Amino acid sequence: MKLDDPITVLKGVGPSLSQKLAILGIETVGDLIRHFPRRYNDFSHIIKIKDIKPGPVTILCKVVKITARYARRGLHITDVIVEDGTGELRVVWFNQPYREAHLKAGGKFYMSGTFDLQRDRYILQNPAVEQVSNFSKNTARIVPIYPETKGLKSNQIRQLIFLLLPYIKELPETLPASVVKSNQLLSYSEAMTQIHFPESDTLLARAKERLGFEELFELLLASQLNKQDRASNPSWAIEYRQNAADTFINQLSFTLTDAQRLAAWEILQDISKNQPMNRLLQGDVGAGKTVVAALAAFMAHSNNLQAAFMAPTEVLAAQHADTLQRLLNETGVEVGLLVGSVKKKPREELLKRLRSGDIDIVVGTHALIQNGVDFAKLGLIVVDEQHRFGVDQRKVLLAKGSNMPHILSMTATPIPRSLMLTVYGELDVSIIKTPPANRKPVITKIIQPTNRAKAYQMIEDELAKGHQAYIICPLVSESDVLGFTSVEEEYAKLTKEKIFKDRQIGKLHGKLSSQEKDDVMSQFKVARFDILVATTVVEVGVDVPNATIMLIEGADRFGLAQLHQLRGRVGRSDAQSYCVLIPSSVKASSKRLQELANSNDGFYLAERDLELRGPGELYGYRQHGTIDLRIARMTDTRFLYLVQQAVEKFLATKPDLLQYPQLRQRVEYLRRLTVLN
Ligand code: ADP
Ligand code: MG
Repeated sequence: MKLDDPITVLKGVGPSLSQKLAILGIETVGDLIRHFPRRYNDFSHIIKIKDIKPGPVTILCKVVKITARYARRGLHITDVIVEDGTGELRVVWFNQPYREAHLKAGGKFYMSGTFDLQRDRYILQNPAVEQVSNFSKNTARIVPIYPETKGLKSNQIRQLIFLLLPYIKELPETLPASVVKSNQLLSYSEAMTQIHFPESDTLLARAKERLGFEELFELLLASQLNKQDRASNPSWAIEYRQNAADTFINQLSFTLTDAQRLAAWEILQDISKNQPMNRLLQGDVGAGKTVVAALAAFMAHSNNLQAAFMAPTEVLAAQHADTLQRLLNETGVEVGLLVGSVKKKPREELLKRLRSGDIDIVVGTHALIQNGVDFAKLGLIVVDEQHRFGVDQRKVLLAKGSNMPHILSMTATPIPRSLMLTVYGELDVSIIKTPPANRKPVITKIIQPTNRAKAYQMIEDELAKGHQAYIICPLVSESDVLGFTSVEEEYAKLTKEKIFKDRQIGKLHGKLSSQEKDDVMSQFKVARFDILVATTVVEVGVDVPNATIMLIEGADRFGLAQLHQLRGRVGRSDAQSYCVLIPSSVKASSKRLQELANSNDGFYLAERDLELRGPGELYGYRQHGTIDLRIARMTDTRFLYLVQQAVEKFLATKPDLLQYPQLRQRVEYLRRLTVLN
């Protein structure tokens, strides 16, 4: 038998059972043995009948008497008296008529179940039963409870895995022997045995430790190998030129903060090498990342190299192009905008000028990596909100230059340390911790839907001061992916009920063409609208400092990190800003929203979000496959550091992964998933 054999090689697994297993994602033998228990029932302590107390119990008993009958309305009752030398006990099964045939008077059995009040008497009800043998599966042990599906319960899964136990016990080691030894881990086969059929709490804990260790080891190894690989490609050195830096800084309308200077310094040092930079610039919304990236792009230009900026949406690309043109106004640098809406002649022209090197900086979306976009000498790529780009897209982009461009990813999503070590492990990081001065933290309030008028009054108050407002709508139905319906409904409500008299209201949703979106945004920017009703299109990057209040409808439907992102669209000027969260129902006003109201710390909120929702949901890995952490917890940073040390030690031995086929296979898979491949 092999791990990738179809599950049907197992005796007793036919079409019907294999269909149910498939629902659980189990198609091969390997899938089955990696179908780990979701929890355990500890039935390992055998108790004397005379000592029995309410709760989960296991007894070792002899059957004295069996009666089986149908009671009213077809209810079948198997009523059994058992004894164990210390006393007698009544055991009852409801609607399990097959029990009678299994239980013989005089037979010795383990029974595990809950001793509970039934009407006014304590009985043992519907316990699992097993004949006494030298290996119990369902009783008298720590019993595994598996993720189940309709018509496929834990005891059947347990039975299948039990049949595989001899095979599991012979599984070869998957980690390098030196790693197992120096970290005092259980062997793979032992860990796999103990995770399914633990002999004790201690062994179960060690099995989890071993398997969790392995998951993180693979992940960290993958990102370290990616890092090594990238470093082995040549890139153009973007030499640091003091006069270029001065030129850029002197023409800005503001002075850079210390935090910006530090980040810029790290970046400029990094790109001055002929090994490609792969750096993440982290900074909460409004921290002022763009100008730092612009300085790097300008430095590239002064080295006769081009820079490309990529944004997740056309709105943001257009905005970036504007911003960059403004930031570079006095330098004579040419900024081009290449998005889907640029067509035919202008497009041809732009492409030609990119090829010839006429254009120094180009801004776009993924259109930038379409075929037919060639650069003269691309030295630097800046990716805004990088986790929105697919791995494959990056590959195409990287393949374009003869040298590997330096990559600077910018994100306002604070990434928890644990993720920084694992999935983002191959990145170097610069952080802009403190935003430009004069920003007051946004005041966040939860207002119940029954109190909506109060929220509208808050908006009205801000509008009266000449400020602007966002109203964000959640997606209400699956079919409304573009948010068209929810925005239209909200807009209709506001206008029909004349909630804001004499106020101009704009609409922004995914159904608009990029031209239309641009128009709406530029009109909002020049205050043609007082209120913008929008979907999460405004989540990232959009910069309208005069907007000082945001109302988020159905706030409970968003994740914490996303809410924090949204909130970052206000509080972008010296004025006090507000964020109002209205849950979709009074009941839905969760602790989560309270966390947001209490904290403006993006890093803290990201940690909380990670704990609450897991890494997959948070960072959108779903789209490129899953980082399948079944045992390890991302939030255990101490353990992560331990594993990281083990990975470094292992890599220092210059290992040949061909010697570890399973590890190699997993690592190759993960290398394709990690962030910037
Ligand atoms: P983010 O980090 O969210 O991308 P931006 O780069 O869009 O932030 O900057 C937010 C705003 O702050 C912009 O309007 C920008 O011009 C302004 N800004 C950036 N740096 C400074 C600074 N040092 N002093 C004053 N304003 C700044
Ligand atoms: Mg930005």
